[in-house]
Amino acid sequence: MDDNCLFCKIAAGIIPVEKLYEDEEIIAFSDIAPQAPVHFLVIPKKHIAGPAAIGQDDEHLLGRALRVAAQIAKKEGIGDQYRLVTNNGTEAGQTVFHLHLHVLGGRTMQWPPG
Ligand code: 5GP
Ligand code: ZN
Repeated sequence: MDDNCLFCKIAAGIIPVEKLYEDEEIIAFSDIAPQAPVHFLVIPKKHIAGPAAIGQDDEHLLGRALRVAAQIAKKEGIGDQYRLVTNNGTEAGQTVFHLHLHVLGGRTMQWPPG
């Protein structure tokens, strides 16, 4: 755990969130500033700064995170219609430097993203 990391604190239960899923390795919760009718985040509990910091040992974990995202999307009523986003670096819009998958759905998405 990184003591200065917001999402490590969420994973540790120190900061409360609207939790949608949790197991030993992964937690998912609603985004505090939703950008779509359904917008939740799936994060590994392990502190990984972002997509570029994923190590070989993390490959299985990230595959699981994608599967968990799909399962929660179904449970949250958006079936298999959703957008997955993960930002890497400030220029890409990353504001929290703990790896997270955004799952957005419940409306028609535009492309290209801003
Ligand atoms: P990023 O900009 O790094 O890709 O995404 C960070 C996301 O975390 C943002 O969508 C933001 O709304 C969300 N977020 C930031 N702080 C909190 C918080 O304290 N609780 C929850 N649930 N979401 C947060
Ligand atoms: Zn962290």
